[in-house]
Amino acid sequence: MEPKTPATSKPEYDLSRSHEAFLRACKVIPGGVNSPARAFGAVGGEPPFMARAEGAYLYDIDGHQYIDYIGSWGPMIFGHAHPTVRHAVVEALDHGSSFGAPTTREVDIAEAVVAAVPSIEKVRFVSSGTEATMSAIRVARGVTGRNKIVKMTGHYHGHVDSLLVQAGSAATTLGFPNSPGVTPGAIEDTILCPFNDVSAVAAAFERFPEQVAAVILEPVAGNMGLVPPRPGYLEQIRELTRKHGVMLVFDEVMTGFRLAFGGAQERFAIDPDMTALGKIIGGGLPAAAYGAKSAVMDFVSPAGPIYQAGTLSGNPLAMAAGLATVGMLRESPPYERLEAISARLEDGLRRAASDAKVPHVVQRVGSMLTLFFNQGPVHDYEDAKRSDTALFGRFFWEMLARGVYLPCSQFEAAFVSAAHTDADIDHTVDAARDALRAIVG
Ligand SMILES: *Cc1c(COP(=O)(O)O)cnc(C)c1O
Repeated sequence: MEPKTPATSKPEYDLSRSHEAFLRACKVIPGGVNSPARAFGAVGGEPPFMARAEGAYLYDIDGHQYIDYIGSWGPMIFGHAHPTVRHAVVEALDHGSSFGAPTTREVDIAEAVVAAVPSIEKVRFVSSGTEATMSAIRVARGVTGRNKIVKMTGHYHGHVDSLLVQAGSAATTLGFPNSPGVTPGAIEDTILCPFNDVSAVAAAFERFPEQVAAVILEPVAGNMGLVPPRPGYLEQIRELTRKHGVMLVFDEVMTGFRLAFGGAQERFAIDPDMTALGKIIGGGLPAAAYGAKSAVMDFVSPAGPIYQAGTLSGNPLAMAAGLATVGMLRESPPYERLEAISARLEDGLRRAASDAKVPHVVQRVGSMLTLFFNQGPVHDYEDAKRSDTALFGRFFWEMLARGVYLPCSQFEAAFVSAAHTDADIDHTVDAARDALRAIVG
């Protein structure tokens, strides 16, 4: 049966089953969820619990259907339960789900990654994006023999201790732990800089000469809402890091295989020293990876002395899902269509917000976008923070009640998938118009 596009009119929006599930969950899981964003803290209220997903749609246990713009926060570039991915996983499962011994599938997907991502000659698979960035940083430190890391404020690289840092007052600062349990020692080698500001990074290199091992960044930031690099920024950072012998680490956990087959580095023609991948590479199962030139990766154990390991790394089911997804991306690239429908969504949201006369800017790169309730442009975290998050919260709930599942925070990017149709996009824009009308009157 073809999934129906949900009706635009706001239905009686009853989440009583989800409410019961959430009460149960809160008794046995902290905050009721296994990852904090899912609890809707940024928009208030309780989350619908999902029963299933197919194509561009999510279905909750209360019987609602949603057009999904989170795509599991990035992985589902072909939409949910794609038959090719499903078949690959079922086939793998029939042969056993984990061996703790090498398999040819790991070689297949490693070859596929090396062929796809320009700067990667060798790649190591892990199980989460957090592990990928944590390991990339260890390698950068091990290879350079330096300790310090430059990180951009508002960029997210998973819950790695040394990267859970928040800004202090100065523009370039050593920052503070942004979670209890992260020791001052764990972050004392982390330097924070604003995104899109080359001079801040140059100043950090001057302040700590020959001490910086790596600059890690999201080449297109997706974790403070969608914030593109300014023209020339990535090129200048590349030049500056090279000049100072600092490794440039692209965290492409979100952008890899999404902004182009070879990720942001292909799209912007930049050659980073190391790359972290995740999300799409696992095709909806837990997999991530980090890679670099052979000369760097050969430092990794057992080829070299830098230790990194994982019981479920290269897990057969995850590799099967990832390989099926990467194979489809290669054989029938969805990028042109993603660009077109995402542009349609961008344009529609912009017109809806303009007509409602709310301060806004829609920022988009490829199939990642954010409607900021903020005059814009948003170049860094300080800009993003000036958004009207209360308005966003109301907008989010009005959209949810109209069958559109947006990321539940102003500071997250929405993802369009190849399963979204023009009708889905148009429905979303109509819902946005309606929602804003309901809010601003
Ligand atoms: C999601 C994300 C991570 C963390 O990946 P997990 O699999 O959640 O650990 C790291 N970096 C970026 C850019 C991400 O978007």
